[in-house]
Amino acid sequence: MILISLQNISIFSCFCRQCLQEDEEKYGEFYWHRIHQLSCVLVCPTHNIPLQNSTLLFQQLNQHHYQVASHHNCISKGSIAPYSPQNQNILLNLAHDVQWLFNHPQISRPLDWYYQQYMNLLMSRNIATASKRVNQMKLFDEFLFYYGQDILSYLDSDINLDDQSNWLFSIVRKHRKSFHPIRHILMMRFLCGSVREFFERTSSEYKPFGNPPWICFNGAVDHYLQAVIEEVELSHCLENKKPLGTFTCSCGMVYSRTVSESDQSEGYKPNRIITYGDKWHKKLQDLVENKNLGLRAVARELKVNTRTINRYVDKLGLNASWQSETNKFAPINDTKEVDDKAQNRQDWLELLKQYPDATKTELRNLSPALYARLYRGDRIWLNNNSPSLQKPPVSVNKRVDWGKRDQEVKMQVEKAVQEILQKDKPERITLRKVGVMTRLKALLEHKLDKLPLTKTYLQETIESVEMFQD
Ligand SMILES: [Zn+2]
Ligand SMILES: [Zn+2]
Repeated sequence: MILISLQNISIFSCFCRQCLQEDEEKYGEFYWHRIHQLSCVLVCPTHNIPLQNSTLLFQQLNQHHYQVASHHNCISKGSIAPYSPQNQNILLNLAHDVQWLFNHPQISRPLDWYYQQYMNLLMSRNIATASKRVNQMKLFDEFLFYYGQDILSYLDSDINLDDQSNWLFSIVRKHRKSFHPIRHILMMRFLCGSVREFFERTSSEYKPFGNPPWICFNGAVDHYLQAVIEEVELSHCLENKKPLGTFTCSCGMVYSRTVSESDQSEGYKPNRIITYGDKWHKKLQDLVENKNLGLRAVARELKVNTRTINRYVDKLGLNASWQSETNKFAPINDTKEVDDKAQNRQDWLELLKQYPDATKTELRNLSPALYARLYRGDRIWLNNNSPSLQKPPVSVNKRVDWGKRDQEVKMQVEKAVQEILQKDKPERITLRKVGVMTRLKALLEHKLDKLPLTKTYLQETIESVEMFQD
């Protein structure tokens, strides 16, 4: 803990009369209690009485000029300030907070962590929105009400609503600078009731949606309606400012929902399906074009309503039996069919030319409807004019020159790391942060093994900066 002498605070070494007496009885001499010398401790945490100024200047109390506490210098010059019972109680609590920190020297955390915790707590108290916007007026009012003007004054931590740069507003912004420990202590106690509770809060994150896993609503996979989703991205709903979660399942489904009354129960529903994902799309295509099921049957299979099915049939350009109902009774136009066949073949060959290294599956994904038409009506030709199924994996990878890619990526990553390091207050370098900055998050997270230069660089950088910060 850093000691900074604050203007309004005693510059004399302090002592507690009661401690003095007890020390003398117990040890036959006095000593300066470390905790009494902190500028933010105004009341003895053991005896709950205001500390006294000695005649010894605090600055003299250093390793080169050590002066023992004695009857000569521990002469009461009156308490530092007369406190009301209520204020004395608050000061006692703050002294206990400092004492707790003294007894937990390992508790130190990166600056960013404090910002996160403050933000989570402010959100849970409705002083900040889910998008991390702080209601400064509310914060100011509640903070001032909690401590009162006098306490803040004693601790040289006055706040002023008109001053945008005042410490109370700055401490809940992303930390670029450090603050006197008492200001963090004031914040922690205000938000959590005590410093101990602040650090011991088991749920270190703001969790409007509770804990993972969350339910997946993908009707095309086995885990339909099972709680399997581990990932949620928090933002806020533009209309009602409520927290909005975007849930991403490993099966590819992504949906969003806001916090609702039913949140604690299992009965919640997505507000919006962002995507059902590839697996769902493929199953839809299979049911519609290969199995030729009817609309209701498809909807039943995929556990959605028929409107949704029709929307996706349109969206994916699928050939649904129920949509061509009217055509079924129309006279068959042989020429048209031949034309279509020729057109389909031509389109497929075009696709092959365009993606010479793609596998059959990849071509199929590139143009599912075309593939399905050929598969149904012209399968032998399709098989003869597709890349062989068992392509060695090497040929797939050949499309990407990983060596070259590695060098390019490394350059981008180095640039991002330099940017982070050049900030006034260097932030922790994480893979995620670098990924976001370079817009290569997915590549860095999933393909780092293919990028040995980048990987080594990142490992070394992240490690050295962590060591530096420790
Ligand atoms: Zn005492
Ligand atoms: Zn899923």
